Amino acid sequence: MAPNTKSFGSLIDVSSSILTSGNPRGGPVSNLKKHRFKRKKTHIKNPKRRVNMKIKSVKARQVLDSRGNPTVEVDLETAEGFFRSMVPSGASTGTHEAVELRDGNKRVYNGKGVLKAVGNVNNKIAKKVKGFDVTDQSGLDKLMCKLDGTANKGNFGANAILGVSMAACKAASASKGIPLYSYIAKLSGHKGVKLPVPQLNVINGGKHAGKENDIQENMYMPTGAKSFSEAIRMGAETYHVLRKMLKNKYGVHAIHLGDEGGFVPPIDTPQERLELMIKAVGEAGYSGKMSIALDPASSEFYYKDKGGYYMIGEKKYSSADMVDFYADLVKTFPIVSIEDGMAEDDWEGWTLMTKKLGGKIQITGDDLLVTNVERIKTAAQKKACNALLLKVNQIGSVTESIDAANMSYKNGWGVTVSHRSGETEDSFIADIAVGLDTGQIKTGAPARSERLAKYNQLLRIEEQLGKKAIYPGKKFRG
Ligand code: PEP
Ligand code: MG
Repeated sequence: MAPNTKSFGSLIDVSSSILTSGNPRGGPVSNLKKHRFKRKKTHIKNPKRRVNMKIKSVKARQVLDSRGNPTVEVDLETAEGFFRSMVPSGASTGTHEAVELRDGNKRVYNGKGVLKAVGNVNNKIAKKVKGFDVTDQSGLDKLMCKLDGTANKGNFGANAILGVSMAACKAASASKGIPLYSYIAKLSGHKGVKLPVPQLNVINGGKHAGKENDIQENMYMPTGAKSFSEAIRMGAETYHVLRKMLKNKYGVHAIHLGDEGGFVPPIDTPQERLELMIKAVGEAGYSGKMSIALDPASSEFYYKDKGGYYMIGEKKYSSADMVDFYADLVKTFPIVSIEDGMAEDDWEGWTLMTKKLGGKIQITGDDLLVTNVERIKTAAQKKACNALLLKVNQIGSVTESIDAANMSYKNGWGVTVSHRSGETEDSFIADIAVGLDTGQIKTGAPARSERLAKYNQLLRIEEQLGKKAIYPGKKFRG
């Protein structure tokens, strides 16, 4: 790695936030402590260092995400060097999410180009934020929202604003000489020492597997692990046992992977998938130590006509039927969390589900809440769920993501930081999960590098925190 952050060579490491933020000059990791100690002294001795916190330039470009679709990448320059962010993208997106600006020209990338969003960063945002202090994250995010001038970032695109917001956050942590997760902890008022229990999506369904009327995500949660690294080991070992089992039972096609690195076996019933998952846990030697989380992503199989009904496979369900269906699964399997069990605007269904199951398990709102404080307020008032799924691109800035988490904590809810099905090598959300002390992260199977970029970053953070690191296990809801 080049020791000079002024060169673009250092950009290679910018998505690895520990190297960037803990050691902004890009030196070897072993020099980290010495380097940080020296920098703290410099801060005290030289108040003029504040000049290093100013944005010198911002440049966006179009790159590709894990599905081969265009996405926005931003390089933000301060006196400390260049800081890079990459924006994720969903497939089962909620209708209330902030706008992901796409070019819409069907002849180019099937309409999915992001050159308009890139142009908005380069031609509209860059000149307005030049000279802005990156350590004023909320000021910067507010400024960009004001310049956009819409409630849903429909003008610049949430993908444009978020790219700048995340890159500035990385630059700020570097200017402070502290790791990104510590900086996010300071920004948001948390300790930043809790490693998250991972939700590992080992069987992919629904939109992530090209299927209809289907439960989207079937996830292991290693709640019986003693540490994050043990959790990842349990998850990866069990994933490989499951792989063998699926191949033996259904043939080689069953172990092809979906968008989030999980298998897509030809199993139609949710119960049969869960039975196999539990069997694999037993064979891997982790009986009683592995819990299960589901994300049905039910907005995808909710049909609004005729009063509204859900459909799994060939079978129709009312909202009340869905609650009974989940209640049966919870009785039979070690399920501790269900996300988007109800559709994004089926408020009555959500309230019913939370009333019936909320005392037992986590009821998480994803498409329901879209990381938006207004929808979180409504959900709290309606007692519609008891946890937030936090996706930075649903709302489009670091500040608003922190606000969403903090409001959820005030409600007494759990928080899970989440990837999108279209991901990149940027590991920013790993640092967010620790910085906000969420105790939970969902970032796919223990396979495919865009997923592992986050799990691997968490392994580094665990190593860096050493004895201070807390792995909450069964207490993942805080
Ligand atoms: C989800 O629904 O929680 C998810 C990660 O999928 P997507 O990114 O496609 O919305
Ligand atoms: Mg979801």
